Amino acid sequence: MAERAPVIAFDRHRMTTDGEGVTTLVCFHGCPLRCKWCLNPFSFEENTRRQMLTATELYEEVKIDELYFIATNGGVTFGGGEPLLYAPFIKEFRAICGEGWHLCAETSLAVPYDKVQLASECIDIFYVDCKDTNPRIYEAYTGKGNELMMQNLEKLIGLVGAERIVLRLPLIPEYNTEEDRKNSLEILKTMGVAEFDLFTYKIKK
Ligand code: SF4
Repeated sequence: MAERAPVIAFDRHRMTTDGEGVTTLVCFHGCPLRCKWCLNPFSFEENTRRQMLTATELYEEVKIDELYFIATNGGVTFGGGEPLLYAPFIKEFRAICGEGWHLCAETSLAVPYDKVQLASECIDIFYVDCKDTNPRIYEAYTGKGNELMMQNLEKLIGLVGAERIVLRLPLIPEYNTEEDRKNSLEILKTMGVAEFDLFTYKIKK
């Protein structure tokens, strides 16, 4: 039976924000973390409206921009929430859209490894938001330990190579400092990560 996934939002015609070329962002419901400054709490709130789509139905929704995707080396970026929770669905989607579309995922990697492995077979670029490599900071900020994320990152580098990973490393107001971020940067470089996106979380209290 075809996989179904809970889609809560689409955003078409994005440029350079989350992937090469013109992209459509597809947001899924569900996230294993509870970040203190989460900008998308609707992605895990129970009463959020969602459509349970098959990969074919999603393809029908987004294919209107295929010409833009092909011409600009763009495609679909999966976000959320945590898109890798739906790795089997994304794999089915890849089989339907073909290799010509560029598929990206914005992920925390805080998911079981089998999902990461499956995603490695169908995602071109992973934008990994690792929060902080310090377990104490990570747990205070997300409510969970970072061991799973760190292990998955190491394995993902082995599976797809560092060139398919962009590491988003935030400065998190009230949770980490420039010094903490520098420490994370050093640890991640040692693991082989080469491309970083450094930024500061905007907080909404
Ligand atoms: S991982 Fe993203 S969606 Fe999930 S709680 Fe954190 S900021 Fe929100």
